[in-house]
Amino acid sequence: MEVVLAEKYGFCAGVRVADKLVRIAVAKGQSGAILGQVVHNESVEREMATLGFPTVHRLEEAREHAGRIVFSAHGIAPSVRTEAAALGLAAIDTTCKFVTDIHREIARSLDDGCFIAVLGQKDHREVIGYTKDLDPERYGIFYDLEEVQGFRWESHPKVKVVFQTTLNAERFYEHVTDMRRRVPDLRIADTICYATKENQDALRVLCADPSIDAIVVIGGHHSKNTKELVKIAGESKPTIFVGTAADLDAAAFAGMRKVGVTAGASTPDYDVEAVVERLRAIG
Ligand code: SF4
Repeated sequence: MEVVLAEKYGFCAGVRVADKLVRIAVAKGQSGAILGQVVHNESVEREMATLGFPTVHRLEEAREHAGRIVFSAHGIAPSVRTEAAALGLAAIDTTCKFVTDIHREIARSLDDGCFIAVLGQKDHREVIGYTKDLDPERYGIFYDLEEVQGFRWESHPKVKVVFQTTLNAERFYEHVTDMRRRVPDLRIADTICYATKENQDALRVLCADPSIDAIVVIGGHHSKNTKELVKIAGESKPTIFVGTAADLDAAAFAGMRKVGVTAGASTPDYDVEAVVERLRAIG
């Protein structure tokens, strides 16, 4: 069985930086805690805990971990930074620069009198970071088309649209078209991250290859961009979603001659290498 890797897969630039910043702290002999997962990947979370940076879910818990807190690449609301400082915590801020740009874009647009329409998931940490500190009257979060269609846009003549970075833009085309019809001054910031898109485009190339029998997607179970890859692959190929090589079931590949492999933007290289090695062994 031949194993083909997508031209582009795995860690994006933002996650590589986050990973590196924690490792630099470890090399300096520092320890601490990570607020939420540093990236949405269970292997990385386990490794970070081994290195002295376990995941915590409340800022206060960082007091028991050398009083140091890491903010993940997804970013945080400004009030969280203030709260950490008030608790006397030292912070390692690994917020991705693209996420920081969106925070700035939102602030500028609010100053300009816009209502903010965030296209994304209400419970996603990146989206929570954008909206937690905002006046609820000044923004809305939309994911399903029906949410856009049912909203009272007539009360908001000037709207700025931003996208959660890891969304698949094509799925939101109709959302934007609907808003265009109803909002006289609609401004769109294309904030979809190119790294996610590159992984998606490279996967589409694999999916277009008729000789590929199935696609293996590697990633964390909470990773939105990994789920998008699973969705895209599932539209045209049998798709197997695994967290690590240990999840691979040899029987699932019986009779297959060629398998494509991709990985979410928070999947470390060592997980990809282990999966490819195991697939080759199965083959
Ligand atoms: S997916 Fe894009 S926005 Fe998100 S952390 Fe990676 S580089 Fe940054």
